[in-house]
Amino acid sequence: MASLSEFDLIERYFSPLGLTSSKSVLLGSGDDCGVIQTPAEMSLCFSVDTMVEGVHFPKNAPPFELGYRALAAAVSDLAAVGATPYFFTLALTLPDANQDWLAQFSSGLKVLVDKYHFPLLGGDTTRGPLTVTIQVHGLLSKPALLRSGARAGDVLAVSGTLGDAGAALDFLSIDLNSESLEEDQQFLLSKYYLPTPRIELGQILQDYASACIDISDGLLAEAGHISRASKVKVELNLESLPLSGALLRLKDVDGATQLALNSGDDYELLFSVPIDKWSEFCSNVPEGLVTQIGSIVAGEGVELRGKSMDIANKGYQHFE
Ligand code: ADP
Ligand code: MG
Repeated sequence: MASLSEFDLIERYFSPLGLTSSKSVLLGSGDDCGVIQTPAEMSLCFSVDTMVEGVHFPKNAPPFELGYRALAAAVSDLAAVGATPYFFTLALTLPDANQDWLAQFSSGLKVLVDKYHFPLLGGDTTRGPLTVTIQVHGLLSKPALLRSGARAGDVLAVSGTLGDAGAALDFLSIDLNSESLEEDQQFLLSKYYLPTPRIELGQILQDYASACIDISDGLLAEAGHISRASKVKVELNLESLPLSGALLRLKDVDGATQLALNSGDDYELLFSVPIDKWSEFCSNVPEGLVTQIGSIVAGEGVELRGKSMDIANKGYQHFE
């Protein structure tokens, strides 16, 4: 990218997301490195995610939603370990420097920058096929929630509803503001494009959960990760999966259950809580936010109970 327009572009669309008034930021975007003061007694955690056009989002995805979703997906990893968002960096590869696109993409990022007071402190901007890479950093005042702490006897639970983002894949090509979109389709599309990272829940879970993971690749796949990391069996009750009204109006129960098990992109949290802490935990979370969907028992693997059906696959994998 010609250097003048590259620097103008960064100056106009990304530097304002730096929130350099924040006391801990010693140097934001604009120099060879950013510099940040880490608070004493806290640990810094980090995670990087890449989204590639045509793989993680459709061609011609709306830029506001793309910016929001790329950052929300990355922030969801901070939620899963119970961290507070601290700052992020952005490596953006663009086919061209379309100002209108950049303004909207930057506004999508800004929603979460403002919500969590979470500055963008640097990055890289290059020309090529549209790709968004975001590295997020978070602060932890207690040990991170891991995938490996689940124990036999724990309750298994999930936040929100499952399968909504997966159902939206059928009509991603329809414009979000199109009149031909029905209300339920609109709801599911907004679940796909505008997921809510469960930061507040992750922080509550720090005091209660034995294991936690965010659902980016589908419930079955993530339950498998907890099972392997914790060396336990995960029992899922298919009758208990939280399914939205919109999903159930568009699919039959079996179709909705398949999506809840196998489709990704919901960015909800899947976690285990020791049974003796469960009722106190429930009294500390907003009504309706979490649902018990099974339990942890001795053994290995993921067992599906409560309903017999053929399960198609086990989540999205890039190299299989
Ligand atoms: P260098 O060549 O020294 O690596 P660059 O020319 O890549 O620096 O970037 C110049 C400055 O702009 C750096 O401070 C970098 O962090 C920042 N920057 C580049 N791209 C972005 C972006 N997409 N978002 C935020 N800051 C960016
Ligand atoms: Mg340099």
